[in-house]
Amino acid sequence: MELEKLVCNSKATIKDVMTCIDENAKGIAFVEDDTGRLVGVMTDGDIRRLLINGYGVNDSIEAHMRKEFVYAKINDKPADIVAKFNYRIRILPIVNESMQLVDYASYDENVHMSLAQPQMSGNEYKYLMDAFLSTWISSTGNYITRFEKDFSNYCGVKYGVATSNGTTALHLALTALGIGNGDEVIVPDITFAATINAVVYTGATPVIVDIEEDSWCISPEKIEEAITPRTKAIIPVHIYGQPCDMGRICTIAEQNNLHIIEDCAEAHGAEWKNKKVGSFGIISCFSFFGNKVITTGEGGMCITDDEELNEKMRILRDHGMSKDKKYYHEVVGFNYRMTNLQAAIGTAQVERIDEILEWREHLEEKYREVFRDLRRVTLQANTLTDRKKISWLVSILVNEDKRDNILAALKANGIDARPFFTPLSEMEIYQKYARECKVSRMISKMGLNLPTTYEMNLEKIERIKFLIMSGLKEELNHRN
Ligand SMILES: *Cc1c(COP(=O)(O)O)cnc(C)c1O
Repeated sequence: MELEKLVCNSKATIKDVMTCIDENAKGIAFVEDDTGRLVGVMTDGDIRRLLINGYGVNDSIEAHMRKEFVYAKINDKPADIVAKFNYRIRILPIVNESMQLVDYASYDENVHMSLAQPQMSGNEYKYLMDAFLSTWISSTGNYITRFEKDFSNYCGVKYGVATSNGTTALHLALTALGIGNGDEVIVPDITFAATINAVVYTGATPVIVDIEEDSWCISPEKIEEAITPRTKAIIPVHIYGQPCDMGRICTIAEQNNLHIIEDCAEAHGAEWKNKKVGSFGIISCFSFFGNKVITTGEGGMCITDDEELNEKMRILRDHGMSKDKKYYHEVVGFNYRMTNLQAAIGTAQVERIDEILEWREHLEEKYREVFRDLRRVTLQANTLTDRKKISWLVSILVNEDKRDNILAALKANGIDARPFFTPLSEMEIYQKYARECKVSRMISKMGLNLPTTYEMNLEKIERIKFLIMSGLKEELNHRN
């Protein structure tokens, strides 16, 4: 909000201040004298008390405003400004050395900035209510079919099998491909644990390999080195919106007769050579968790061009029940179904996915502009040959020694930034599966992800930049 909306002159009447507060909806007006100095504040409570005490709306406020009030100075550290907020004070004027109003800080706008947020301003509510009123709220219904069709179409793939989440999608894909005991599956060291967990569920042995330094995605070279006669599949993960080198990975898979299962949980709509991710794997898996590019609350999908695998996954998803004979089970299946309610939201999300991606891309461009002169911050590569990344979070690298400093500074100011994933190879339960992973260990210690919520704007990005700069300079001042 513009500062002017919060400002009144000291000659104003009670009515003027009421109008000001009514319009700014912040419950407060900052009062300036004719020279532009901040001389007082008035809250809606102050006004109420004046009226109760018999003052009229045309009386001047000058004698009644609060002349002692909490304010911050332009050079105050953000953490010190935040420290001035309490349960009563939710908005603060910020002044320069001459006591002139230059800005304001608001608890609601500044104190909590979440990392990601679903954007559901299209037909989400309408379709959800439609599904609700139809009473088809379980896992049969029109929206399931529609969501599967619309999303797989969007990816340029024939069939979609919606699941309860991204992890069950991965497990379903591996199981449908018959992967299990005695098999090896190659996964990258930097990913969310669900990728490797799904492999472990099947009884197969995961093999963790290093990543590329420029893309942070699984290294084709390291895949090749890790192949053994037991290797059955590769799970390339398009990490933080960046597509893997699908050209080389497909060649390796073909030469060695391996399946590719793409993990696209973080990269809906990303492309390799103008072809969408999800269209390279024999099966590809998506997540629609609340913080992903598009969401169904919880949810996932396997997509494939293979009719037989499509059928197999549908049976496995539904307890392994025979399609022709009710309550006759041919395989040990699962209940990995998505509900029609979730699919209703998903259907509306797919309608707007291009718009959502465009908005995200635009936001990342703003970050890039604002961060341009931060020489010690490296933004995620966005011009790698043949790859068109999408913007999920805004991912950056900083000096390893300063990363936690910066995270703490952001956190102290209510900004929900996150470190990169801990490399799988650094966690005790997965260590035994790991090959040498030098690059991932280096990158993960330098990386952090910044918010991409819909409330982000240039001002907030500037603020994040300021906090990063202070984090780069300071020695662990923000430990809280
Ligand atoms: C989110 C995510 C998953 C798991 O998805 P859920 O829907 O949370 O089960 C799998 N892989 C990666 C890379 C993810 O980011």
